[in-house]
Parts: sequence; C-alpha cells; structure tokens
Amino acid sequence: MREIEKLKEAILKEYPRLSADNSFCFNCHAGVPCFNDCCGDVNIFLTPYDILRLKNNLGINSQEFLDKYTISPFDKNLKHPVVLLKMNDDDKKTCPFVADKGCTVYNDRPWACRMYPLGLASPGDDHPELDNEFYFLLKESVCKGFNEDRKQTIKEWLTDQGIEEYDKAGEDYKQLTLHKGFDEADQALDPRKVEMFHTACYNIDSFRKFIFGSTFFNRFEVDDETKKKIEKDDYELLKFGYKWLRFSLFGEKTIIVKKDALEAREKELKEKTK
Ligand code: SF4
Ligand code: SF4
Repeated sequence: MREIEKLKEAILKEYPRLSADNSFCFNCHAGVPCFNDCCGDVNIFLTPYDILRLKNNLGINSQEFLDKYTISPFDKNLKHPVVLLKMNDDDKKTCPFVADKGCTVYNDRPWACRMYPLGLASPGDDHPELDNEFYFLLKESVCKGFNEDRKQTIKEWLTDQGIEEYDKAGEDYKQLTLHKGFDEADQALDPRKVEMFHTACYNIDSFRKFIFGSTFFNRFEVDDETKKKIEKDDYELLKFGYKWLRFSLFGEKTIIVKKDALEAREKELKEKTK
C-alpha cells in the first residue's frame, strides 16, 4: 500500500494533466513483444460492477468468485472494505485469467484493465486538494505499446474500451465510497457494518439471499416492481444495495421503514430502557 501512496503523490506533483481531447500514441495487440507481460504482479482493485461482470462471465456465484479469485486486505486506514484480484502463486504472479492468446475474460475485464495505460485522478477521498479530475498516462517500462503507431484522443480510447458503461455503473459506488459519513465517524466501521458493506457491494448473490430469505420485506417498504427487478437483475440489486447502505450506515432516507416495524422497534427500545 505504501508504493501506491508514493505513486499517488508523484501523479499529483509530476504527471502531465490530460483532458478527454488530448491525444496519445498507444496500441496493444497480440503482436507486441510484451504481450501479456502486464497481466501479472499487479494490484487490481475490483469494483462491485467488475465482480458482477466477472462472476457472470465465469458462470459462478459471487461467493465462489470472491473465495477463488480475490483477496480483501485488512488495513485499519481503509474506511470501507476493498477487494483485489488475487494473482496466481507462481513466479510471475500471473493473473488467473491470462492465457497465451490473451485475456480469457476480455469482454468482462475489470475497469482498471480497460483503462490502462490511462489513469484518472478525481477530487474526493484520494485527492481532496484537486478542483477537477484529470487523466494521466501510466508509462510502465515493460509496456512497448507506446512505440506503436496508433494515435487517439483519450475520449476515443475510453469509448473503444467500453469505459462509459463501467463509469455509469460505478457512479453510485463511487459516491458511496466518498460519503462524508465515513469522515464524520469517530472510528472505523464496526465489524457488522463492514460485513454489510462487503455483502451488499461485493457478494451480490448473498445479498439477494439476505433480502429474500429474511424478514426484510416485512420491515421495509419495497414496491412490487422493485422486488421483481432485484430478484432477477444483479445490476438492479447492486443499485438497491447502495441505497440500503446509505440507509443503514448513514441513516439517509433512501429506504423507508414500515410504520408497524418502526412502532415495534420503538416499543422494544422503551422496554429495554425501563
Ligand atoms: S483480467 Fe484480463 S486484462 Fe486484466 S490482468 Fe487479468 S488477464 Fe490481464
Ligand atoms: S505491456 Fe502494454 S503493450 Fe504489452 S500487453 Fe501490456 S498493455 Fe499491451
């Protein structure tokens, strides 16, 4: 994690700041001498949408995906849980999805893999000193893609890599992770809330089991149309999960408690304080 902090500092102080209309020369294809060399020994943070796409690509549930392909580092400085792709335990620490022909999950590869060699610095938790976001180029020495004769604007690259869809799907998650409630809390989230965050964001199939296999709908107002959507559609369930977390972590009115459940809870609290 210390290396990441150093890189962040260098990016803010030294890297040229680029906008969507700036151009750069780069191409990556099976003919480059470094093909696949970057798919190993790398920290790839997975967003909830990355996990959703990858586990569906592999035809497994989110718990299986998390168990087999990820690690969740414990760091007391982290405000919320994060999930990283687990590299193989071989000399090169290769990505579990790389093969001779390239990425075996290419259509559903994570946001970070799509972005490379671009990076994005946004104001917020990581860069509170920034007024505006900016792009930068990460020129790794291993990467020969910068010698290729293909010029494109950043905007063209983002479109080519399908980034807009990932950005749109990731916006609610980004806003949740930047929530001021994390800064206002006196201490790190308690273990129950950490578990809640982890399940709703990263373990979507378990979250569905929790919603549909508990008294959830007796306690909270959820209309039939939403119930139908979140029962079948992972993406809709993710969006619902972010609302649930805003309600349960920060007390926002993003989920409505049923009147009788509220009265029962108040009665219970009164009994306890007698
Ligand atoms: S997910 Fe695909 S593109 Fe990303 S590191 Fe692994 S093999 Fe490479
Ligand atoms: S190192 Fe660069 S050019 Fe080579 S495979 Fe990776 S992204 Fe492509």
